Amino acid sequence: MTAAPRDPRIIIIGAGVAGITAAHTFTQAGFTKLTILEKGSDVGGVWHWNRYPGLTCDVPSQIYQFGFAPKPDWSHMWASGSEIQQYHRDVLERFGLDRYLRLNAEVVAAEYESADGGQQWRVRLADGEELEADFVICATGVLHHPSIPDIPGLESFSGEVVHTARWDDSVQTRGKRIAVLGTGSTGVQVVSALQREAAHISHFVRSPQWILWAPMTLRQPRLVAELLRRAPRAHDAVHQGLLAFSGVLADVVLRPTWRRRAVQEYARQSLRAQVRDPKLRTQLTPDYQPLCKRQVVSGTYYRAIQRPNAALVTDEIVEVTPTGITTADGRHHELDLIVLATGFAAHNYMRPMHVVGRDGITLDDAWVKGPKAYRMTAIPGFPNLFTVLGPNSPTGSISLQYSAERTSKYLLHWLRKFADGSVSAVEVTEEATDEFNAGVIDAMAPTVWNTGCNSWYLNEDNTVDLWPYDRATLATMLSVPDPRDYRITR
Ligand code: NAP
Repeated sequence: MTAAPRDPRIIIIGAGVAGITAAHTFTQAGFTKLTILEKGSDVGGVWHWNRYPGLTCDVPSQIYQFGFAPKPDWSHMWASGSEIQQYHRDVLERFGLDRYLRLNAEVVAAEYESADGGQQWRVRLADGEELEADFVICATGVLHHPSIPDIPGLESFSGEVVHTARWDDSVQTRGKRIAVLGTGSTGVQVVSALQREAAHISHFVRSPQWILWAPMTLRQPRLVAELLRRAPRAHDAVHQGLLAFSGVLADVVLRPTWRRRAVQEYARQSLRAQVRDPKLRTQLTPDYQPLCKRQVVSGTYYRAIQRPNAALVTDEIVEVTPTGITTADGRHHELDLIVLATGFAAHNYMRPMHVVGRDGITLDDAWVKGPKAYRMTAIPGFPNLFTVLGPNSPTGSISLQYSAERTSKYLLHWLRKFADGSVSAVEVTEEATDEFNAGVIDAMAPTVWNTGCNSWYLNEDNTVDLWPYDRATLATMLSVPDPRDYRITR
């Protein structure tokens, strides 16, 4: 590791998967003037903010880890949220990234200043402090801002209301009459967990989801951990093998082949095999293709919803009253606690930060028709500002850690050019961005996400905010920047 001759001042916003990956990549390349600003009181991103009962990652642990920080000894094949968050803390410490970290440092604005003498970003924190940077890396996540449903009377409820992404540890659940709203990955996990201790649980489901069965409570055998620990090369081979296998799975969502049909059939059988009551099964059957929404995986939900203290409610919610929820069939459901598992405003990215680029253009102006970036990372009008896991990131198909690492390595190119003095500002062109996004729309046509369902993947204009290509294409697109796609100031 050699120190860069002109070490750029880099601000990374966010200390989740994307921010940690960027920080690790940049420091390994010798860049040291780094500040990681994290608005939370701890690191881990979604694994810090989400602490709801039953939180488990439905991606196997041996894939859901940084390639540069393999962990042999996960307790389970699918790890819990708390174990994953601890892993993020450990990685920061192990690689000395914590020395760059500032917690409870919320960025409210970032403005690009350009004058004869040069240019830089001015970043403002919620407490008024201002910092300057040559590069701003927005690693602010996708599933970040909780979506609170607009239900009449919600604020009048006399019991407690909690969103899963802002779980309040003081909330009592044992022996309570609980409503859970929403049936995405979160709703399914939280119902499975709370059913065990609730007096009664009502799961309010507006549109059912397909739920793939998987043995998510399986422990990882100690022997496996020991073998992986003793043989790091074998561990790396396992990780790479799993990534390659997940590439095959990505093909399932990208192309309408027999593989997709097989997985879809497995989803249908998962329901058929576990739910015998025809009425309940009908209520739980979605009217769109399996895999169209982010696939829910669970080995416990169908059993939980059939327990005597559980009920599926598919009647429309009319209003919340001080004592519970009234549905369209006229029934009033008496409750102590309402759990909102209603998802996220997934297309905000770094907003509501006020981001002002070249010539006063704001991010809200640039994204008035929805978030658009070039190859997930660069935005016209915003020199030296990049996103990691930004628009069109492959949240539905490719390892996020892998994608963040590829993007961060791609950005190293510009950091090195800055360091050697050959570039002081770099901005992607409108033309390259439009061309990339036109390609995305074409490539999205055969994907399962485009088969007619409503999901958080969709932008307001109904385009799918995901990555429609395979892993090899991602690696190629993020190998070396094409200078023709950028406007460069020396
Ligand atoms: P989500 O998938 O967006 O699901 C939100 C749910 O809330 C949907 O069932 C939605 O119904 C319902 N909903 C929203 N507004 C409503 C309203 N006004 N009235 C009634 N129902 C309403 O959110 P999520 O479950 O939090 O999951 C988001 C993503 O987080 C997942 O897709 C996944 O990528 C990630 N996640 C991952 C894990 C993991 O294990 N790796 C765990 C949890 C979450 P409609 O479908 O009718 O809109």
